[in-house]
Amino acid sequence: MSPGGTVASLTVPKASECQESDVLGLWRVIRRAGRIAEPAPPAPSAGAAGRAGAQGLAGSVQIRHVDAGSCNGCEVEIASAFGPVHDAERYGARLVASPRHADALLVTGPVTRNMAEPLRRTYQAVPAPKLVVAVGDCARNCGVFTEAYGVVGSVGEVVPVDMEIAGCPPRPEAIVAALRTLTGR
Ligand code: SF4
Repeated sequence: MSPGGTVASLTVPKASECQESDVLGLWRVIRRAGRIAEPAPPAPSAGAAGRAGAQGLAGSVQIRHVDAGSCNGCEVEIASAFGPVHDAERYGARLVASPRHADALLVTGPVTRNMAEPLRRTYQAVPAPKLVVAVGDCARNCGVFTEAYGVVGSVGEVVPVDMEIAGCPPRPEAIVAALRTLTGR
């Protein structure tokens, strides 16, 4: 905002006006910057679910996320886990848009009455072998929503759960570490 109260104008070139040299310059900056993700910590030792996942899914796990009634806090951390800083994809974990393309479900929140049946159907739509990861305290045991009138129960009370990630919300490092035990990488 200028002192006179008018909004300063910003001229953004249209895509068609971008010069080839602009694109090349941007490409050089990206090449020079390289990978900026956090250094990879040592691979966590696999638990029972991790060993089953790593053996059954051969190092690559396609994941469908289901929000069963979350406050959205867990979603923020999942987004961070798959963002450029933590970059869960480099360990073989990848989010997909359909349960029919998925090996595992990443479920957040307590299961609300409206989401119980959609969660069951989503689970049924995932081809076997399949895994379910309950993300956050609400998914594990209803957390702060225990005995809320709209809540059916924890994720494990609706579909079989293979792995739990504790926290309200779990840190992205914990989410990535858990997914690495599934991918075995
Ligand atoms: S565990 Fe915490 S952050 Fe995650 S859905 Fe429950 S209240 Fe929200």
